[in-house]
Amino acid sequence: MTIQNLKIKIPWPFFEVNVFLIESKNEYAIIDTGLSYQDNFKKLYEFIEGTCGWNRIKFIILTHGHPDHYGNIKDIFHNIRKIPILLHPKDNDRVLEIPKEERKEGAIFAYEYLAKNGVPEDKLEIIKEQSKSYFTSKYRIQKEDVFFQDEIQIGETTLKVFQTPGHTPGHVILYDEKNGTVFAGDHVFSKGFPVPLLFFTKKEDRFQNLPAWISSLKILEQLDIKVVYPGHLEPIYEIKAVVSKMKERVEKMKKKVYDIVSTQPITIYEIGQKLYPNVPDEFWSFKFSEAQGYIDLLKNENLIKSSEENSKIYYEKI
Ligand SMILES: [Zn+2]
Repeated sequence: MTIQNLKIKIPWPFFEVNVFLIESKNEYAIIDTGLSYQDNFKKLYEFIEGTCGWNRIKFIILTHGHPDHYGNIKDIFHNIRKIPILLHPKDNDRVLEIPKEERKEGAIFAYEYLAKNGVPEDKLEIIKEQSKSYFTSKYRIQKEDVFFQDEIQIGETTLKVFQTPGHTPGHVILYDEKNGTVFAGDHVFSKGFPVPLLFFTKKEDRFQNLPAWISSLKILEQLDIKVVYPGHLEPIYEIKAVVSKMKERVEKMKKKVYDIVSTQPITIYEIGQKLYPNVPDEFWSFKFSEAQGYIDLLKNENLIKSSEENSKIYYEKI
């Protein structure tokens, strides 16, 4: 198998997303397609034209349903042709067109949930605007355009598809056993933390990202791996060490959150602010998501409880 990497610009932390072009016996697949942003599609188009040409692409594989990983699909479909897309069904509602009513329900629930958990009014307005733009028709793919299977064949290369819920519910990693190669999407990075992000599609539908992500780390500990190609940043050669460092970090941060809720009843938003006082305010949703994750862990361990006052939820230790 040969692997080529194209880095595509994104306006968020890490600032670039990795697109991979893999080849075996003259068959090709693209892993993740990058964000539809500025001249990214042109970059992707020229990269593929300059290597194998679009006609040779057998599959597009999406590690998960975030716009920086699937964003150029619509342009590919419009300007080139429909290429079969592997996507785990649990991420369908992040990528495919979903009924308007359901979207609206999800957006209202998200708004109410965040308000109850301490997010200030001005930031909630931004959420409203963002959710509008994410759901523009530009990103919509139909159900018949995607498929899912546990294994995918590119020439002589067999990629095993492992479900790794966490960063999103339908996140997958791809494993080439023969070469010990993993394409990891946003499951793991060489540095930093793949903060599982909140996402609401329907009422009461909140996936517990962080607890799921921790269980999904086991897969990386069990496989025989030489190199991991993540969706952002550089390849990882010492994956076992990275995983144990991340687990240590989780324990440390969990303890920190426990100490914070031990001093006073506090909202999730405020916990996020206390965890990262120096991170710019524009990244508040990352801080909130991470605080939510530790609250889920501590709640699952019966170490904390919540109470409601003036329509806000406060956490404190038991
Ligand atoms: Zn992602």
